Amino acid sequence: MEQYKQYLESKGISPSYQRLKILEYLDQNRTHPTVDEIYSALLPLIPTLSKTTVYNTVSLFVQQGLAQMLLLDNVEARYDITVMPHAHLTCSRCGKVFDIDSAQYVQFPQTIEGHTIESYQIAIKGICKNCLVH
Ligand SMILES: [Zn+2]
Ligand SMILES: [Zn+2]
Repeated sequence: MEQYKQYLESKGISPSYQRLKILEYLDQNRTHPTVDEIYSALLPLIPTLSKTTVYNTVSLFVQQGLAQMLLLDNVEARYDITVMPHAHLTCSRCGKVFDIDSAQYVQFPQTIEGHTIESYQIAIKGICKNCLVH
């Protein structure tokens, strides 16, 4: 918990208990959860938690650069604490979202056609290896 506290402080976020628990959840569950999933998982631990608090907290994390928001299926935003550039593969059978080390497969220059690249998202659809064996 102490390292999460220091991490939040280093990003200019005051470390309230709820923010710490949400950060811990994102760190320990790298499944690209939605606000609803984070809320349902933490509610038993924090009965006073509201969905608005979860939403505001993850939005703050995104704004301060310690998480990224993913819009993979145009339905619900998912949150990812891994901020280095990587791609996402969404399985069309089980719906799980997998991290793909995109740098192995694609590389963008810093400047494209006169535009400077700040970040990018690559969304891949497929059938994951777990579903392929079942
Ligand atoms: Zn799958
Ligand atoms: Zn990811």
